[in-house]
Parts: sequence; structure tokens; C-alpha cells
Amino acid sequence: MTGFGADLMARLDAFAGFTEEPGLLTRLFLTPQHRAAADWLMELMGKAGMSARLDPAGTVVGRYEGSVPGTPALLIGSHIDTVRNAGRYDGNLGVLAAVAAVAELDRRGERLPFAIEVLGFGDEEGVRFPVTLTGSRAVAGRFDRVALETRDRDGVRMADALRAFGGDPEAIAEAARKPGEALAFLEVHIEQGPVLEAEGLPVGIVTAINGATRFAVRLRGMAGHAGTVPMALRRDALAAAAEMTLAAERVAAASDAGLVATVGRIEAKPGAVNVIPGEVVFTLDVRAPEDAVRRDACAAILGDFEAIATRRGVELAVETTHDAAAAPCSPGIRRQIEAAVIRAGLRPLSLPSGAGHDAMAFAGVLPMGMLFVRCAGGISHNPAESITVEDADLSVQILLDIIRHFEHETPTP
Ligand SMILES: [Zn+2]
Repeated sequence: MTGFGADLMARLDAFAGFTEEPGLLTRLFLTPQHRAAADWLMELMGKAGMSARLDPAGTVVGRYEGSVPGTPALLIGSHIDTVRNAGRYDGNLGVLAAVAAVAELDRRGERLPFAIEVLGFGDEEGVRFPVTLTGSRAVAGRFDRVALETRDRDGVRMADALRAFGGDPEAIAEAARKPGEALAFLEVHIEQGPVLEAEGLPVGIVTAINGATRFAVRLRGMAGHAGTVPMALRRDALAAAAEMTLAAERVAAASDAGLVATVGRIEAKPGAVNVIPGEVVFTLDVRAPEDAVRRDACAAILGDFEAIATRRGVELAVETTHDAAAAPCSPGIRRQIEAAVIRAGLRPLSLPSGAGHDAMAFAGVLPMGMLFVRCAGGISHNPAESITVEDADLSVQILLDIIRHFEHETPTP
């Protein structure tokens, strides 16, 4: 049965109509299209029995009261901003699935011993301004006001854009839940990767959002004539970079701890067909669900780089350009999600998230967990992103089941 699926898919299609570029889906933070989408969402929340408002950081907040008004809330949310030329499920699925679950509770007159707040965050993708997680950090009480001074490519300050949108930069601290007001944070999100499809499973339980470290690596060898310099006398920076790329791949492939390592960009100079490359710059991105695994891997890879550079007579300079800790999902929330997956008659598969998500903002603040939903081919950030109506239905069914069985634990994350 696909009781919730068809409606949810139709809403996701309608929601994708709020776009800056007709025919494509592009909805950046604090744009008029974002505001129109927020208004549409608040109306939908109203019909689902929630009181809806916009918080000072531009997050849409819908509240469904518990059996006793004013009781602490289970937070369920994701983001409603998109990348340019996006798919329609990234972020939006999690928000609209949560609204569908609450609508069902409301339709049946079910009240729980806690309130539910559905959150539609405005800035997870970080496309318009050079910051991310604005809305979720504000709710988690972790917003850094420096972000308000950042500017988009037209020179518009975030603080001014937020004011024009209907938010209030001065009042962002008030968006934070006070201790005792929130019980946990849940996020439903498409996997954006190929694992669930390969396993033949519609959903998965997230173990952690991977930490990531990025490096800029510069190699200086010696440029020379491709015809006249014998192989033994060369200091080829590109051949060294190739060997280093394979070393990084080998370290990651040898791990069974969810480690991934990628050389994503490389530039060789002078870059001519008949010249031995004298200088190479490349990037290295290393991610893992556990910080210790990532740190050890970085040390092993950089150790290999040094050995390769020394052996080849190439100068090596490494700069760390990004370093973010892993955000482990709470064991208690993972167990509750897993129990609901089993009750749905499915094999519970746990997997890490290679991509960042709003849930990261709550790690260490509230018990936090995520349910991944299969997407075709693992394709995301692409208009070809797709999910099935059956999986959309299941995401609501399982979320409802998690809500109905939700057990509040002492909020030690
Ligand atoms: Zn997303």
C-alpha cells in the first residue's frame, strides 16, 4: 500500500515549483522564491494541525502540541534550500515527510506525551553565502554571528537579506531551544549515495555524519624537455602526484571503517605536451564516521606522500584547508529508528553519511538520528534525483512509527 506516497510525491512536485529558474529547481537561501516556499509550507502545516511561524533565522517552524500544551518537543526537520539545478528530494523530502506524519496524527486525533516541531531550515547547502547550517545552528544554539556579515556574489549582506526575508538578525539567539524544550532531533533524508540501492533496501539507519579533512598539496619538481631528459634524471611532479593519489586510494580501500579518500582536483604546470611537469597542485579529501579513523588515515597518507616525495626528489608542501569533526548519531536514537525499520519488516542496515546534514548541528546538543531513504543510482544534486512512490510512503510510515514509539531519554547526546 502506498497510502502516503502519492500525496507526498505530488506535494514534492508542487514544492519544486518555487524556483528562480523556470524548468529547473534553484531555491537559494533568503530569496523571494525561498520566502514563497516558506509561506506555502506554513499553510500546509496549518492544514496538518500545526501552528506555523518563521523563526528569526528564517526557519519554518510548525508545532503540533502534545496531550499537554507547552510540553517539550521532538524536533524533526531538514532543509528547504537547494543547490542550483537541484533535484526535488534533497532536504525537501525530510520536511514534507514530517508534515505528512503529523497530518496523519492530526487526522486521527492522536496526541502524544510530547509536542512535535517540524523544522524547514533555510540554509543547508551554503550556496548563496559562504556559510552553511544557518537555521539548524540557530535552533541548536550554535549560530556564529560572523555569518551575518558574509555577502553573496552581488555584495548583499546576509543580515540585510535576512531582514528583507522577514527574519530578525538581532533576535537569532531567541531561535535556540532552551534546555528542556526539545527532546531530540530526527532527520529523514535521501541517501545521496548508492549503498541502499545496491543492498536492495528502501531505508537505512545513519551511524554518523562523517568528519572530513581537506588538504591542498603542492609539489615542486623540475620542469624539463620531454625529449632530452632521461627518465633516471627526472623530478616529475605529476608522476609523483599520480603515485600519491594511488597511495591515498590504497589506504582508504584497506580500511573497513567507512574511510574514503579522494583526490578531486589536480593542476600540472607548465602543462604542455612536450614538457616534464615541474609543479603540481592537488586536493585531498578524507572522510570517516570516526575522528580517530580519519586522523590515523590522514597521518598514514601524508606519511606515504613524504616517502614518495623524498624518493622522487620532489619538494612537498601540505596545507590543511578544512577540518570538521564527525557527528555521531546517538545510540539510543539509532536503536529506536532500527526498531521501527524492523517493525516495518525490513532488514536494518546501518551506514555512515558521507555528506553533511542539518542533523550535524545538533550533535552534542540533543540526542540526534537520521533515517536515509534510497534514491535511484545514488544520484543527487542533479535534476535526475529520484525516489519511488513506495519508498516515499515507507519514509512516512516509519517516521510515524518512530514518533508513536518514541522514548525520551535523558538528553545526553
Ligand atoms: Zn540535503
